Amino acid sequence: MLGSINKIYNVGIYIRLSREDDDKVYESVSITNQKSLLLQYVKENNLRVYDIYIDDGYSGTNFDRPDFNRLMKDIELGRVNMVITKDMSRLGRDYIGTGNLIEKYFPEHNVRYIAVTDNIDTFLDNSNNDIAPFKAIMNDMYAKDISKKIKSSLRAKQKEGKFVGGRTPFGYDQDPYDKNHLVINEEQALVVKRIFDMCLEGLSFFKIAKQLTNEGVKTPAQYYSFEWKNNYNLKYGEWHSKTIRDILTNQMYIGDMVQNRRSKVNYKVKKVVRNNPKDYIIVENTHYPIIDKETFYEVQKRIPKNVGRNEKKENHLLDGLLYCGDCGHRISIQARRKKDSRCYTICNYYRTYMKQKLCTTHSNNYDKLEKVIISSLTNMCLNYLNKDKVKNTVLNNLTEDNKFNNKKELEILTNDIKQINDNLDSIYIDKLNQVITEEQFERVKVKLENELNIKQQKYNDLNNSINKNINEESKNKIINEYINKFLSMKEQSRELIINLIEKIEIFEDKTINIKVTFNNFS
Ligand SMILES: [Zn+2]
Repeated sequence: MLGSINKIYNVGIYIRLSREDDDKVYESVSITNQKSLLLQYVKENNLRVYDIYIDDGYSGTNFDRPDFNRLMKDIELGRVNMVITKDMSRLGRDYIGTGNLIEKYFPEHNVRYIAVTDNIDTFLDNSNNDIAPFKAIMNDMYAKDISKKIKSSLRAKQKEGKFVGGRTPFGYDQDPYDKNHLVINEEQALVVKRIFDMCLEGLSFFKIAKQLTNEGVKTPAQYYSFEWKNNYNLKYGEWHSKTIRDILTNQMYIGDMVQNRRSKVNYKVKKVVRNNPKDYIIVENTHYPIIDKETFYEVQKRIPKNVGRNEKKENHLLDGLLYCGDCGHRISIQARRKKDSRCYTICNYYRTYMKQKLCTTHSNNYDKLEKVIISSLTNMCLNYLNKDKVKNTVLNNLTEDNKFNNKKELEILTNDIKQINDNLDSIYIDKLNQVITEEQFERVKVKLENELNIKQQKYNDLNNSINKNINEESKNKIINEYINKFLSMKEQSRELIINLIEKIEIFEDKTINIKVTFNNFS
């Protein structure tokens, strides 16, 4: 970016802030911002920093500033041969003084000077006449450079987890006290939560969108048009599958800041392109989550079951659940030619690379396959319930006992911890009152702190395992509900089946392997 640099530069970063900088620009020239912009610039250009010079609270109308003087000294001692500031006014606001520095002092001392956002670089302009740096501002390069500098300053902010996008994600507002921070918009957050719940219930993007539209739930577009024009544009009252999908896959909802997802092609063209996910800038835990991590990742697991299904076509019960057992790719269900004709499955990998014969057909009569799978699933469910019943009657008393014991043990540990803390307090007071010596105090303190650590660890472990049990119990309960519902239904629903089946593998020799979601619980 800086062209050919044969010379080794020792950079002096110079930062200045004073009261004369009015409120509007104050934020953009704050010490932190100048520093992060300049460090970013230095890093991107592989430059070596000798030192950072900061004059906080000094006017630019004269040059009598402590760190500025220190910088001059380091230049004269040959320690610094490149000076970088955010813009020229950081160096000074006195035109003649500043001009003198740039045109005489720096060249005389072989110092290269760069004002990042003013696009001034004395190295590039030194063959031109004396006002070249100021002329540079007027040309197209300036605009290009500014856009680059704005980008790098934005990126620096993004890397700190600060929100810099124009439009907040649905469910969040800009914090009125800090525009780089997000706060929850309760009304929208409820809709986001509902969309995640609906997905967990097994509804497809299309069905979620349809239901929200039917209920007249306000769409993100309606909120934004309200913000912009102060009235709802009713034309945009329809939810789309894509909106639902964007919401369900947005990591912002678990409290992580995900930015740099899109970028402009260049500074002249307004066109925006989607970036590769590996270029996203993600900073964790920057704001309150709307969705807990467990729910979010559960939903991410389910999304593949929902993708690539054509909602308008016939809705097969097992759509999105079938996989080729031999090559691992999906198996799709081909559309019927006529209303009553048969319907067949085919391995996608086979279909795509038919000539290369990378897999085999995996062709099955779909309706027969569905019957076989539903009846196997029914058996698996009945089996599970039987096992569960036996297991539960045997374990029930035991777990009740366990629960009681755990609770008691937790109480004892809580007491112990409090006792040790009290003891620590009292030996400390003894030490203050010189009842015990410093040495005695240290010895007892170490002993007590060790005990405390051990008890605390025990307490944490026990507490974790209790919580884990509670979690598992509630999961078990939900699975049991699904199973009972499934067994009692005459007409099966896809929604329910998605909750019971992880995936179905079909092999060329017609072997079927059903992976159910309740296996972990048996
Ligand atoms: Zn295959």
